Amino acid sequence: MAGQFDEARAKASKALGDTVVKALAEKGYEAEYVASKEEALATVLKLIPSGASVGIPGTVTIREIGAFEKLAERGCKIYQHWNPSLTPEERAQVLADENAADYFLTSTNALTRDGRLVNIDGNGNRVSGMAWGRNTIIYVIGINKVVNNLDEAISRARGASVPNVLRLNGSTPCAQVGHCVDCNSSARICRALLIMERAVAGRKNHVVIVGENLGF
Ligand code: SF4
Repeated sequence: MAGQFDEARAKASKALGDTVVKALAEKGYEAEYVASKEEALATVLKLIPSGASVGIPGTVTIREIGAFEKLAERGCKIYQHWNPSLTPEERAQVLADENAADYFLTSTNALTRDGRLVNIDGNGNRVSGMAWGRNTIIYVIGINKVVNNLDEAISRARGASVPNVLRLNGSTPCAQVGHCVDCNSSARICRALLIMERAVAGRKNHVVIVGENLGF
């Protein structure tokens, strides 16, 4: 019985994924749908050659698909500022290196059905790496992040900040109540909002939609 439900869920994810892939393609992205995180990882490994440098900003999704280990095995140089052993000076350099690497590998906070990506950032490094770069950008996006419209996308992006606050042991009001209250806290992590209306010009923009729940 459970298998029957799984099959229906998988079919619904594929139908929605195909809709979003079509919308993204019309907006200039090279987009594809895959059913599982294993297939997402295989797609990422197909897109990134051995030995390339890869910037990975704050993203749970990319960690969940196991990209770090496989890219390192293939001799890729990975830049990522979530490494807790970095000094403040090293961290600042890694943030710059992430955005300048050959490939910028990330997810999104939300994706509308009509193909707009919405992200909220604290430092601004992730949204700046999305908005401009001479490198190739690859988004890996779980089907759970697809929403109906822009209002829902912004709401979802703010909601995604709550587990991020908790991951960082933060003290903003959302950590207490479990939802965004559009706070005025000095520790607020929601500081820059980016809406990608189209694939940005001057670089390759890939999107891999995954038929599983991934990331926050
Ligand atoms: S309460 Fe503040 S820190 Fe928390 S999600 Fe909302 S704006 Fe961001």
